[in-house]
Amino acid sequence: MQVNLLNSIIKITKNRDIDSLEYTIISTIQEFITCSEITIYKDLAIEGELRVERSASLLFKGAKEFTWLDKSIIDSPSDELISCMRSTCIITVKADDNKEHRWLPICLQDRPVGAIAITSGELKSEEQVLLNAFCRIFENYLAILHENETDKLTGLLNRQTFDKKLRLLLEKQVVKQHKTNKNDENRNRQADATSWLAIVDIDHFKMINDQYGHVCGDEVLLVLAQKMKSFFRSTDLIFRFGGEEFVLVFEPTDLASIQAKLTGFLAFIRETKFPFISQLTLSIGLSRISLYDFPISVIENADRALYYAKQNGRDQLCFYDELISKHLIEPQQLQSDIDLF
Ligand code: GH3
Ligand code: MG
Ligand code: MG
Repeated sequence: MQVNLLNSIIKITKNRDIDSLEYTIISTIQEFITCSEITIYKDLAIEGELRVERSASLLFKGAKEFTWLDKSIIDSPSDELISCMRSTCIITVKADDNKEHRWLPICLQDRPVGAIAITSGELKSEEQVLLNAFCRIFENYLAILHENETDKLTGLLNRQTFDKKLRLLLEKQVVKQHKTNKNDENRNRQADATSWLAIVDIDHFKMINDQYGHVCGDEVLLVLAQKMKSFFRSTDLIFRFGGEEFVLVFEPTDLASIQAKLTGFLAFIRETKFPFISQLTLSIGLSRISLYDFPISVIENADRALYYAKQNGRDQLCFYDELISKHLIEPQQLQSDIDLF
């Protein structure tokens, strides 16, 4: 038992990103505690309101049969889950079928940010101790990873974590595509669904700083970050890339949908009331992410589309492939051409 326990802690602390940490903590708990369900919930706290996401979940159907559920927003979280997160207390409910449902709070810097829910038979006291200990280890390690992955001002993902997150997303897509390729019917539907990367840059942000000062500029950035979190899906990745520049990575969808979404976002921001200023507008450069692209070339394409948007009136969305096909910009020179000399 002790050796197994130590091995589990080694496995947990080997993780370098929050998503894989969540999977490891769930698999570790189920190794030591017999249960039928373990779920990690997160409070996405959009504009100060509770918004619960099921972040990772393992469901057992039989002794050896199990499924992992995908991330999803929970529209009506249970009362127990809400009280657990609000009170930061463990909540246990005994069901009629002798099952126990437990919710254990997860805090970051003493603030509740989520909970681990577990459904099991009646737990012995040493199992309860172990479960609590795993939650505390998760919490401590989450704090370290969170600090590494997020931007201090906005709480969005930071630039340093971009390559890693993009790689994980593309790997997930390769696996998905492999599965759907086995199924002809899905293949057609998937054909025009690719991932997308958008660079969002505030128009004339320097003027806001110059007129109202840096602190007010920061406040505008913070509000914009909140608006982005509430507008886009929780599975879309939002990075603060530089001062007033953000990178968004979207899961597979078709071109028309992503263009409609981003044009809708431009309109939403144009109509949003920001502190100090009468109106804020953004420019966006959009680029397709093909499965085997290098992150740097996707960024470069989106950046060139953004540059075109800035040079041609701002407050608009420009799509790299469209600018190329209309001969409005030249295609990128291949890296290998440059490297040769
Ligand atoms: P454009 O429409 O061409 O993008 O013009 P712009 O003024 O937004 O762009 P420019 O790149 O000239 O200026 C960006 C400004 O963003 C300059 C810098 O002072 C400001 N900035 C960068 N980081 C921060 C930050 O963390 N907080 C605040 N308040 N300002 C920042
Ligand atoms: Mg700008
Ligand atoms: Mg900029």
